[in-house]
Amino acid sequence: MKLLLIEDEASLAKSLIKGLKEEGFVVDWSPVGKKGLFMAKTQPYDLLVLDWMLPDITGLEIIQELRQEQSKLPILILTAKEELEFKIEGLEAGADDYLTKPFDFNELIARIRAILRRPINYREEIIRIGELSLNLTTKEVKVAGIELKLSPKEYSLLEVLARHPNQVLSRDQLLEQAWDHNYEGFSNVVDVYIRYLRNKLKLLGQPKIATVRGFGYKLDLER
Ligand code: CA
Repeated sequence: MKLLLIEDEASLAKSLIKGLKEEGFVVDWSPVGKKGLFMAKTQPYDLLVLDWMLPDITGLEIIQELRQEQSKLPILILTAKEELEFKIEGLEAGADDYLTKPFDFNELIARIRAILRRPINYREEIIRIGELSLNLTTKEVKVAGIELKLSPKEYSLLEVLARHPNQVLSRDQLLEQAWDHNYEGFSNVVDVYIRYLRNKLKLLGQPKIATVRGFGYKLDLER
């Protein structure tokens, strides 16, 4: 699950990112409203954690613009404003939930999970491609009905490939979607995990992950 955090208070953002990562989420962070809005529009996230008071634009404006563009990205607002009217305003503009600062981190996690559990028509719960099926909620992967045990990173990588079947994805695109924006580890990490995945998929015969020289990888559905 990949979250976007728009929050200008750096110390709060950093502690949230650390905690969210420990809970298994991939997190991108923008301290600036407009940049965050751009990221929300152009990249696939599962949920947006949005601060209300930002230096450039307000959380409300971000929600309004996203909803105007038919984005169905789930949004949780963080607000220091305790007044009921702001909460109502946020929810009516299209936010899914809110938390008032200061909040308990465990409550934040519980609310994020509750939002992600909601049956929402736009979030496909299961991706099926040929014999391959990925359950996005339980993270269960099956090939022709046989369960494939994957590590969390292998799963994330396969999910990104499975969302774009037969489409070539560059190492950078894979790194950005399955890891996170600011990943600064060794650059061949994608190749390493592709190898792990291939070895596991090989046991079941398909699907294959093809290398497209000079470009990247794709989930190959041809037999
Ligand atoms: Ca703020």
